[in-house]
Amino acid sequence: MPPLSTLNPTPTTRKTKIPIAVAAGDGIGPEITRAVLAILEAAQAPLHYEHIEVGEACYLRGEASGIAAEAWEVIDRTGILLKGPITTPRGGGWKSLNVTLRKTLGLYANVRPVSSWGSVLGNRPAIDLVVIRENEEDLYAGIEHQQTPEVVQCLKLMTRAGCERIARYAFAYARAHGRKRVTCMVKDNIMKLTDGLFRSVAETVAAEYPEIAFDSQIIDIGAARLATRAQDYDVILAPNLYGDILSDIAAEVAGSVGLAPSANIGIGATMFEAIHGSAPDIAGQGIANPSAMLLAALHMLRHLDLGVHAARIQNAWLRTLEKGLKTADLAQGGPALSTMAFAEAVIDHLGERPLSHPSASPDSQAVNVPAISGQAKKTQRKDLVGVDIFVEAHGEADDLATALLPLAGGALPLKMITNRGVMVWPKSNPHTACSDHWRCRFLKTEGRLSTPADIIALLGRLSAGGIEIIKTEHLYHFDGQPGYSLGQGQ
Ligand code: NAD
Repeated sequence: MPPLSTLNPTPTTRKTKIPIAVAAGDGIGPEITRAVLAILEAAQAPLHYEHIEVGEACYLRGEASGIAAEAWEVIDRTGILLKGPITTPRGGGWKSLNVTLRKTLGLYANVRPVSSWGSVLGNRPAIDLVVIRENEEDLYAGIEHQQTPEVVQCLKLMTRAGCERIARYAFAYARAHGRKRVTCMVKDNIMKLTDGLFRSVAETVAAEYPEIAFDSQIIDIGAARLATRAQDYDVILAPNLYGDILSDIAAEVAGSVGLAPSANIGIGATMFEAIHGSAPDIAGQGIANPSAMLLAALHMLRHLDLGVHAARIQNAWLRTLEKGLKTADLAQGGPALSTMAFAEAVIDHLGERPLSHPSASPDSQAVNVPAISGQAKKTQRKDLVGVDIFVEAHGEADDLATALLPLAGGALPLKMITNRGVMVWPKSNPHTACSDHWRCRFLKTEGRLSTPADIIALLGRLSAGGIEIIKTEHLYHFDGQPGYSLGQGQ
């Protein structure tokens, strides 16, 4: 067999090669990266690869963040990273480098197109949707604490600017790609402030795009419908965690997670990767599907204005699948190609087009995203009205209230105690199970002003009275509206 790069050559018109950073990653990462680079090279994509090391090898060398300073320098300089999956241990160990990369580089939009590729993969529902996932906020803030022997917490952080930025990206993407509908998926019936903000900002932005339909679904029924009727969706806009889950569901329904790419878009840098992970169950066997990473690389080519190369490779890839040449994940028990044999088959088909599917176009992937509007930053009147003091205590709610009431004082009387969000004082239900973690709400009396000094004095009295304080949250009204949730049962 001749060297891969001499198969199906097509002269390139570019004189200089575009430098990009390439990280092979962990598990199946090196196998699929090798396959993808072989195809890019054979198609003479004018790229200069600067290989960097990230992930497990770095962690094991003692690089706590999973990436060395030299690698950051390459990413900063090239502004483009093509990355294989990285292993992140579950339940402990090092923090996710993926999340670090996305947040450090400000990669705010995660674009995850999912397609069933017409009849190329056999008889499947005609899925052609894009999940646009907010990429920096939500529960992925990664701020977790153990607060008592029994209770741990994870902070769900959403910013108005972050919500607006991703909503603007979703609508700009829809307009640029002729998409007709944006569906926002949230759980704002329960998380009224966080998911409520995401939805209300999306609604406001939607009003600027009258030609694009907008609807909003609660995530549970939305995910269920996506699993059964994915062909009904066009663009799905979701906060970070839901977007992650939804895109895996859509990819599996469409065929395989091995088919779904993602682009992580930022202002100064962009990262392209598969949505799937390092697949430790099949790593080293040479059977992984390189298609998701290949499609991510094609997105990268279009982003770099190399749409002609992208279309040529995509057509060859479609023709290869159309001829029934597949990796094991798609072969449904039939004959399957290894990772590298599949790459070689794609290379062999460079210059061909699919017969049963429209040919790929050399379109650019560029999306012109309008800046965040001033409206998102509008000033609101903010009044301090009280404090939630979280305490560790063992026993009954009434015992805790009896201890707190004489310490509370006139400025901030005790209004309510909840346990795991449910009110247990002044009213309670004997069936409510309680932990050692209590939220004690102190609210100012009507007509009085409340100050930080009142809160500090209250904390001092509670502490001197033997109450074990874990943390506090100030309670504010914004433009006269409570900026905090009620207790369940309140
Ligand atoms: P996974 O996506 O790695 O694997 C899930 C299943 O899909 C496995 O059965 C696997 O064999 C299969 N699969 C995945 N990619 C495939 C491919 N290209 N071809 C054929 N089959 C494929 O998910 P997981 O097992 O939950 O996670 C494994 C590791 O990957 C974890 O450490 C996780 O943190 C990490 N991860 C990394 C990324 C990333 O780097 N962007 C994303 C998700 C998970």
